[in-house]
Amino acid sequence: MKLLEDKIRKDGVVKDGGVLKVDGFLNHQMDIELFDEMGKEWKRLFADVPVNKILTIEASGIGMACIAAQHFHVPVVFAKKAQSLNIDGEVYTAKVESFTHGRVYDVIVSKKFLGPEDHVLIIDDFLANGKALEGLIQIVESAGATLEGVGIAIEKGFQPGGELIRSKGVRVESLAVVESMDAENGVRFRG
Ligand code: 5GP
Repeated sequence: MKLLEDKIRKDGVVKDGGVLKVDGFLNHQMDIELFDEMGKEWKRLFADVPVNKILTIEASGIGMACIAAQHFHVPVVFAKKAQSLNIDGEVYTAKVESFTHGRVYDVIVSKKFLGPEDHVLIIDDFLANGKALEGLIQIVESAGATLEGVGIAIEKGFQPGGELIRSKGVRVESLAVVESMDAENGVRFRG
């Protein structure tokens, strides 16, 4: 998606350790008009599947998932990062290893908000090693829901997550795929 790629070129900052900083428009300050165009594009890409719920993960996914949901006319559920795990049978849980912080945390979704009748589109800001997505997919599977696909804003194509998730047969649509990046030359996109 050219609009997103142009924005990344203009305002994205390449950090050490393979981290792309996009906090000026994506995950701290948020460019809502850009989010709206991203939502429109995901709706176009997933027009052929019956999505009735969007699932994302706190915190960065929530804003873009909500704006996208206005194009799908469906509710958004976000997986919560649990502080201490309260396993009372009322929640689905999964463990996620954080790319940016390097530690493992639990994510939970209430059983009230996801079940076998649901057709889920997962939305998230980044796809790197695929750990966040694996956790969300596990939650969809635990709920017995149908996973219709995954919409990602920025996929880092030089990390293994995209291939890992697609090899499970999951349809992943990334709006910008970074082929390579470094502080000197900036960001290069695939395609
Ligand atoms: P994964 O689980 O695929 O390794 O990483 C996905 C999560 O890590 C995303 O939800 C995002 O919050 C964070 N992340 C991964 N790579 C980057 C990056 O280059 N920049 C930023 N800002 N966040 C990232």
